[in-house]
Parts: sequence; C-alpha cells; structure tokens
Amino acid sequence: MLAVSPEKLIDGRKIASNYLEELKARLSELKARQIVPTLAVVFVGDNPASRTYFKVKEKLARELGINFVAERLAAEISEWALLEKIDHLNADPKIHGLFVEFPLPAHLRAERVRAAVVPEKDVDGITPENLGKLLIGQEGLFPSTPFGVIELLKKSGVTLRGKHAVVVGRSEVVGKPLALLLLKEDATVTICHSRTVDLAQHTRQADILCAAAGKPKMVSAEMVRLGAVVIDIGINATPEGIVGDVDFGPVSERASLITPVPGGVGPMTAMIVMRNTVQAAAQR
Ligand code: NDP
Repeated sequence: MLAVSPEKLIDGRKIASNYLEELKARLSELKARQIVPTLAVVFVGDNPASRTYFKVKEKLARELGINFVAERLAAEISEWALLEKIDHLNADPKIHGLFVEFPLPAHLRAERVRAAVVPEKDVDGITPENLGKLLIGQEGLFPSTPFGVIELLKKSGVTLRGKHAVVVGRSEVVGKPLALLLLKEDATVTICHSRTVDLAQHTRQADILCAAAGKPKMVSAEMVRLGAVVIDIGINATPEGIVGDVDFGPVSERASLITPVPGGVGPMTAMIVMRNTVQAAAQR
C-alpha cells in the first residue's frame, strides 16, 4: 500500500473501536436487566478466510462480554443435518444471534441455509425477511457489511443526502442491500454489474463510489472523479496478499476519502454483527 495522508484515510479499525465503546454502554444496560446477549456462529469446514472471520468475531464478543457459542461442523455434513442444527439454534431461547460463516462447502446450498435462520436471530441481516423489510422500509436487522459501510461514511462526516452514490456489484448480501441503505439515506444511487456497458463512465460520476465486485484492483484512478469518497468492500486473496477492488495507491491521489484493505470495511462488519446481536437480545 502506498502512503496516503492520514486525513484522507477512513480508518475502519479506529471507527470500529469507538463503536465498541458505544456498544459497551448498551450492553451494561442489558446486563442490568439480567440479559447477557449470546451469539452462536456456525462454521462448516475449514475455509481459511472464514476461520479468520470466525476468530475475529469470537475475540470481539469476548472483549464486549457477549457470550460466544462456537458451532464447528465437519465439511462433509449433509444439508439436512446442517438445517437441523440451525433449527435447533433457532429454537434455543438462550441464543439471541445466529451467524453462519459463508462460503459453505459446494454441496450445501447457500440460499437454503441463509433462509433457514429465523429473522429475529439473523444478525448478518441477510434472510429474505430482513432484506424484504429493508426494501419496504420496515425495522429489522440490517445486513452487516452494507450497514457497516453506512456507519463508516456517517462517522467520517460524509453527507449522503442528495449525493450520487455508485455501487459496483449487485449481490444479494452486499451490492443490492448497500444500494437500498444508501437510498434510505437519500442518496441518488446507480448500481453497476458485470454487464454494465462502459463502467468507467458511471463510476466517474460518483460522489461516493462503493466497490463490491470481488475483482482485485479493478477500480483504477481513471475511473474515479477528483474528490470522490471511495469505499472498497472487496477482499481478494492474491499472490501479493489481501487486496481490495480498488487500486489503492493511484486512486487515493484522486479521492477525498478512501478506505484501505485490510483495515477499512472489514472491522466494521464484525462490529455490526455484535451490534445486531445486542439489538436482537434487547428486542426479545
Ligand atoms: P459476488 O461475487 O456475489 O458479487 C459480485 C458482484 O460484482 C456481482 O454483482 C457481479 O456482477 C459484479 N461484478 C463482477 N465483476 C464485475 C466487473 N468486472 N464489473 C462490474 N461488476 C462486476 O460477491 P459479494 O457481493 O459477496 O462480495 C463482493 C466482494 O466483497 C468480495 O471481494 C467479497 O470478498 C467482499 N466482501 C467483503 C466483506 C467485508 O466485510 N469487507 C463482506 C462480504 C464480502 P453480476 O451480478 O453481473 O455477476
């Protein structure tokens, strides 16, 4: 990563650690009511990236005083057995939040597993019910990564109302819900995807550019308007290590604010899972 002036950097770790303090205050209120939020994380197999995210959540939960229930399951588990495990956790009154690590081994259908979590415990905010609530403007648990992006922008003092936000990526768990959350904040939103013609022509119009395509360094400096705020959601394992979807060095010279990878969106995602666990426990 090239050097970038600190005032341009959206430091996800720092913002997440401030958030930690806010959450601790909400946790003590709950504890005064004899409620200790409990998060169960289901981890199937041994995907190295998932292992890292699993450990990050475990550490954060312990730091906050949230009970952490680790459900590590063999990669060979049948879909039926996994759904049964999820049903069991759904029904357990001691569990407030339930998170499944993705990706799953290839024989397990992600949509089926995602939809199996009851919406009240869906701390990743990605069940059809919670995404549907977001679509129609009802209160639910917000999707963790997209909501983390909104929180990063707000805590960095970025005004969203009336701004043109361009989201590159339209997945059900990142791109589409992020576009809806930006819309909720009164931004004008363009969604781009792999069939978008002349992607750069769209990205260059962005006041706020969010890259969630999963393509290493695909956003080059020429694709970014001078002074834009650039949020890099991509996490790509490459021979040179983990990189985002944004070519950080050259793009940071044009951007007014930019998130690094790692250390940008990632730390906020885990924090929002904790926030959602606290919310789920409080609403019970
Ligand atoms: P998906 O692969 O599900 O979706 C990628 C999206 O990007 C698709 O909509 C695809 O379009 C679009 N796309 C792919 N290539 C291009 C291209 N060349 N030009 C324009 N659009 C393109 O990925 P996810 O949404 O799950 O994740 C996106 C990235 O975010 C990944 O790198 C992932 O690792 C990372 N991630 C990071 C998190 C964090 O905490 N920081 C959490 C979750 C994900 P189409 O629909 O047409 O195929």
